[in-house]
Amino acid sequence: HSVLLTGGSGFIASHILDALLRRRYWVTVTVRSEEKGLRLQKNYPEDLRPRISFTVVEDIVQEGAFDNAVKVQPFDYIIHTACPYHFNFTDPIADFIDPAVKGTVGILKSAKAYAPTVKRVVLLSSSATILNPFNHSKVYDETVHGETSWEQAMNPRLAYRASKIFAEKAAFEFISTEKPPFDLVVLNPPLVFGPAPSHLVSLDALNTSNQRIRDLVLGKFRSPDGDSTIPPTGPVYIFCDVRDVAEAHVKALEAGPEASGQRFFLVGGYFSNKRLADAVRITHTGLANKLPDENKVVDDMPEDVYGWDNEKSRRVLGLEYRDLQTCVNDSVEAILRIAEQE
Ligand code: NDP
Repeated sequence: HSVLLTGGSGFIASHILDALLRRRYWVTVTVRSEEKGLRLQKNYPEDLRPRISFTVVEDIVQEGAFDNAVKVQPFDYIIHTACPYHFNFTDPIADFIDPAVKGTVGILKSAKAYAPTVKRVVLLSSSATILNPFNHSKVYDETVHGETSWEQAMNPRLAYRASKIFAEKAAFEFISTEKPPFDLVVLNPPLVFGPAPSHLVSLDALNTSNQRIRDLVLGKFRSPDGDSTIPPTGPVYIFCDVRDVAEAHVKALEAGPEASGQRFFLVGGYFSNKRLADAVRITHTGLANKLPDENKVVDDMPEDVYGWDNEKSRRVLGLEYRDLQTCVNDSVEAILRIAEQE
């Protein structure tokens, strides 16, 4: 079977690609430049390379951006992950909302127009469309749909969340109004940690969600006398290991009609920045002098923090989740490996 994977150079996408190749799929990834595509391909052993091709989609905001990509071969599935996730932005519309919404609607439109063999599209959304992280008096699951307004979307602190809400809504609307021959499955992970992509050559280019683990490991959250300079954790206190997020994508492709049109809340557990530091302290004793002293860090996860329920993903997709300790251990290993090469 063949899959079109958008945003192939990204953190989560790199693990989805690994998971797809382990299951013997033929994968075409979209990347923003020839150079990124070649680097990605080169990173895999020769026997796997024929299964990976790439096609350049420079900017998912452009009208018809995916028209050529969906025609590369007769795809069975599409996984859409290309979307910005960072905090160095200036314009909520140009930097977040347009790529999220136009990218999502764009891939669905191109698939409907030019890829008649596609049976299912899996959309990487976010817990941002479920969780209202400021409302703690709730147990969150897929039945909750986050609300936002255009005004909130213009607030830099809320723009990312709004972009994901608008994009997911637009995707479901497309399915109900356009009635394409494929169905849609939506995946909603919270903060994703885990090993950096193996093609990454510099820690400066590390994806946004892993940066706090990188900064811990590099000693950036410790003052010379061991005091903590760890920033506040919140408002999101739940995480998922990137390998479980990747596995969820493959399982979402392969699941039967019970997954059709469904959202899945992918949660591995709670975390706080103190718990991340504690996890590093346990797995990497040699890094103790980079971390703030244990008794100088306060766990800022509120006692009445919101609840979460990942039962649906375990039942329908058969997912099992890695715990925080495993996730942090493997993230740190990858960070140390890249630091050594730099
Ligand atoms: P990355 O930044 O690692 O990957 C984003 C990918 O999207 C990159 O390949 C990037 O290309 C591509 N991209 C961004 N904007 C454009 C554009 N305008 N045109 C073409 N390609 C573009 O992020 P993650 O892997 O962490 O996240 C991917 C998705 O997962 C996002 O949708 C994010 O919202 C969602 N998500 C992430 C979470 C996390 O904690 N990491 C949590 C929940 C959801 P390039 O690198 O070349 O710029």
